[in-house]
Amino acid sequence: MKYIVKKDKFTKARGGNAKFYILLCAQCRHEIFIYQKDGPGKLLRLYLDKFVAPKSVVEELHNIKTKSDMHGLQCPSCGELLAVPMMYEKEKRLAYRLLNNKVLKREEQSPLEYELTEIKQIKN
Ligand SMILES: [Zn+2]
Repeated sequence: MKYIVKKDKFTKARGGNAKFYILLCAQCRHEIFIYQKDGPGKLLRLYLDKFVAPKSVVEELHNIKTKSDMHGLQCPSCGELLAVPMMYEKEKRLAYRLLNNKVLKREEQSPLEYELTEIKQIKN
């Protein structure tokens, strides 16, 4: 399965590089999501617009408009609470704040890249 890097203003604000991570539940090792991490540094929060897979989750998150639409992120396998809703005020972006040591990550290679602006131009 190949995933496409979504490069947008937030990616650029973090230096322009991105990586894919497979996120696993630390308790039961269930593979839960694939997430695009923009830029360097520790993975502290998961922005709703950077979830890559599974598709059902991506679509569900796409419909969330306010923090009150969100609920705690639980492992679908064992039910462990992994992350809690937050608003990243600096960028006015909804995100999940990861709880300490609840989520493991494994890097995925990123085979495809595109710029959001280019996609918009194609649509026009
Ligand atoms: Zn679990």
